[in-house]
Amino acid sequence: MTDLEMLFDAHTHHFDSGMRAIVQWTEGSGRDFPPLFSFGIHPENARSFDREAIKQRCSELAPNPGFRAVGEIGLDNRYATTKEQEELYIFQLELAAGLQKPVILHCVNSWDRCRFLHEKHAPETTLIYHGFNKASILESVLNYPNVFISIGESVKNNPKLQKSVEAIPSDRLLLETDMGSGALIDTYRAVAEIKSVSLRALTELLNQNAKRIFKV
Ligand SMILES: [Zn+2]
Repeated sequence: MTDLEMLFDAHTHHFDSGMRAIVQWTEGSGRDFPPLFSFGIHPENARSFDREAIKQRCSELAPNPGFRAVGEIGLDNRYATTKEQEELYIFQLELAAGLQKPVILHCVNSWDRCRFLHEKHAPETTLIYHGFNKASILESVLNYPNVFISIGESVKNNPKLQKSVEAIPSDRLLLETDMGSGALIDTYRAVAEIKSVSLRALTELLNQNAKRIFKV
């Protein structure tokens, strides 16, 4: 494999990146299932939460070998649907625990609550805190076991996030493109520089994490 083919993308909405990636598959998208994908209802859509439909879809997907994670799910205080979001989050945490799959967490200004509900409903389930960019809560996130931190392209020009990346142990770290337009390799290069390791060494470390979490 070339260096580029070895890169792992922990969370993306791009179906055709050509990378080894956990692609976000969305209901109604009309897209085929990618080789590796996650499925879950985003907190933005908590209002249209249909318990039976989600359950049904998950049991259909369970035998698909590409189904590697439940997500992105979580809490986002930019939407005024706190109660619905929490119900949906709890429901999907419990589904993930039943399926024994990790959770890709979407968390905006809600870390304490995301953590509390996870601890209560699915403490054994691995969380991947995706699109992490909040230096002020890093210590609290790192103090919580069983959570990995996934960083996107904003690390390239966010000095506070660069400082955070310095402090995140490599065995708790993942990288992602999410909806971004930048190349994944540029995020890898930026993080390799911050951590003073070669691109190859960083790729190998993060591939070990991916293997542990997603069994890829
Ligand atoms: Zn996303």
